Amino acid sequence: MIPEIELASKADINSFQIEKLKELLEYLNTNSPFYKRVFKQHKIDISTINSLEDLVRIPTTTKNDLQVYNDDFICVPKNKIIDYVTTSGTLGDPVIFGLTDNDLERLAYNEAISFACAGVNKDDIIQLMTTIDRRFMAGLAYFLGARKLGAGIIRVGNGVPEMQWDSILKFKPTYIIAVPSFLLKLIEYAEQNNIDPNKSGIKGAICIGEPLRNQDFSLNILSEKIKKKWNIELFSTYASTEMNTAFTECEEQQGGHHHPELIIMEILDDKDQPVVEGEAGELTITTLGLEGMPLLRFKTGDIVKAHFSKCNCGRNTTRLGPVIGRKKQMIKYKGTTLYPPALHNILNDFSSVETYIIEIFHNAIGTDEILIKIATAEPSEVLLQQIKDHFRAKLRVAPKIEFSDKNEILKLQFPKMSRKPIMVIDKRK
Ligand SMILES: [Zn+2]
Repeated sequence: MIPEIELASKADINSFQIEKLKELLEYLNTNSPFYKRVFKQHKIDISTINSLEDLVRIPTTTKNDLQVYNDDFICVPKNKIIDYVTTSGTLGDPVIFGLTDNDLERLAYNEAISFACAGVNKDDIIQLMTTIDRRFMAGLAYFLGARKLGAGIIRVGNGVPEMQWDSILKFKPTYIIAVPSFLLKLIEYAEQNNIDPNKSGIKGAICIGEPLRNQDFSLNILSEKIKKKWNIELFSTYASTEMNTAFTECEEQQGGHHHPELIIMEILDDKDQPVVEGEAGELTITTLGLEGMPLLRFKTGDIVKAHFSKCNCGRNTTRLGPVIGRKKQMIKYKGTTLYPPALHNILNDFSSVETYIIEIFHNAIGTDEILIKIATAEPSEVLLQQIKDHFRAKLRVAPKIEFSDKNEILKLQFPKMSRKPIMVIDKRK
């Protein structure tokens, strides 16, 4: 089940996207109070936007815009909205997204082709280990996608390893959807309860929220740890509420595939200009086919690298590498540019590190400082030195590291209403 457009030539994909873009611009110019105003203020005649390169003439949309002008982004009357989704906004209040019936259908299509990309078919049963309610989009998308594909789905929700294993043993799912670090918890529970994960019938896991691979697509430490004890295929999927779209790996596992019928992607530098092909930059997206709250040139805040060569799976679409980091979490440390995922990767290498939290702050002279608080059963100078050496070997710099009480760290990691543990506290202003 590969959509025809994803097998088409780059030129055909390009002209297809231009047509879709022109439809979107018309739609926004008629229905979006926010974009109508942007076009007017910046004197943009939408009939002169005739290529994807012309997009740079339109200002980008920021997360802050969504927060401040939330209502003006909604393009349909209230009675057309079926599902209400929220994300945490930049100023504290949630940002509301309204999905129409057609938007839910589009979301189902998106997830069905993403599942198919990862090799899931109608004979499979998927166990959902993420939240479906609390106004999140992802869980609902998985449910709708499974239904559209004709696959079975078991909605266990997040956490509770015991219930997950009960359900795996009872219903014999073939795929699971989970945050990768939760797979470690499942393995741990299995070990303690005489369950052999390799005999569970699970073929693969579709993993969200944390990267599985290094930039060259080799497994990162977290994935290696999982695979060592549970030999299943790990597929990375990258998605967000604003995009209404997922980038999911195919069986080749060489980055998440772009679906050109759903989204236009640009990768931009600090000045909102496209980066040189193959360089890292901020993923900026334009949604296609959305009715409720379409976005034009929305800056996601995620730093990524795109890969353009044809994939061995036959798809000709661009692939996105693992997210390098959040733009606003970029750390300039002793002359080196770092993102927290690189730090996680190193800390995950030490089994004696039970948990940790990374604090980023400005020092007295206004430059970035990193302090990592670590909980371990056996604190020692030797361990501290080993960790520092590992940092120097991998990143050329070593942050400040100190031992801390496990409960103190857990308290920081799980504030109220948090969906997943907070591993980074950014105190910079
Ligand atoms: Zn592929």
